[in-house]
Amino acid sequence: MSFRLPATLVAFALLASCATAPHPSAPPASDGQVAPAAAVPAANDNLNAVAWSQTAIEHDLIYLQTYRDAESQLLGALHDSHWDALGKADRIAPLGHLKPAVILDIDETALDNSPYQARLVKSGGEFNEADWAAWCKEGQARALPGAVEFTRFAASHGIAVIYISNRAKDLDQATVANLSKAGFPVSGPEAFLGLGTILEGCDQVGSEKGCRRQLVGQHYRVLMQFGDQLGDFIDVNANTPAGRRAAVADYLPWIGTRWFVLPNPTYGSWEPALFNNDWSAPREQRRQQKIDALRYQ
Ligand SMILES: [Mg+2]
Repeated sequence: MSFRLPATLVAFALLASCATAPHPSAPPASDGQVAPAAAVPAANDNLNAVAWSQTAIEHDLIYLQTYRDAESQLLGALHDSHWDALGKADRIAPLGHLKPAVILDIDETALDNSPYQARLVKSGGEFNEADWAAWCKEGQARALPGAVEFTRFAASHGIAVIYISNRAKDLDQATVANLSKAGFPVSGPEAFLGLGTILEGCDQVGSEKGCRRQLVGQHYRVLMQFGDQLGDFIDVNANTPAGRRAAVADYLPWIGTRWFVLPNPTYGSWEPALFNNDWSAPREQRRQQKIDALRYQ
């Protein structure tokens, strides 16, 4: 996950989920009275996104397509000693004779956390650290289609599989156990670089992953990167729709060859980019700003 909510907003979200006021679109009852709240499902912007992620075959096929395409190119990248998938800002150490690796994000790249999102849809709540940590510790997240096959193929050819995640470092044991249970190759605890991993001399900005990519680059030539967020590939300095496009503009030729991007309509930094990254704003205000960001022509 890539966003965090302050405690005050968590309290607001919990209160909101307990509210009994009818939805504004509730139809009037036949006697002219407003229909009881229980008859009207609560609005939740994430329902379609989570339903699609969990049930649409198209979701599964996109993952399969991506990982199979990557696998078909992997050995070519392995045998090209100049091939490297770290962006300019992250490739600090010279390539030399570094060992090969691939870097994967975990959530919605390797592991499917849609049940956690589904619980939020059902409860009407919003993301919070405590519930998220509890979900991670359940260790029940399934592998996304194609991901296990790809990573096993990589490992079988002597390519290290490194997971850079914004799961907190203290979730390392639960996360590594979940990855292993789902069938992913995990060489050891050092294969998981969670939030809180420090690289001496590198100033991490927020939860950006650049320092951790640099750390991997000190030991490995990175053949490919996989993620569902732009920040899985490159640090994003200006999280606005235009800033995000600008950040990746120089790397478009790498998409589908060195960088493989997976779909996540349920959450991600694309969302706060639509409301000035202000999670402290009331939920309805954030929703309205998202509506205002839509194109109507
Ligand atoms: Mg992710």
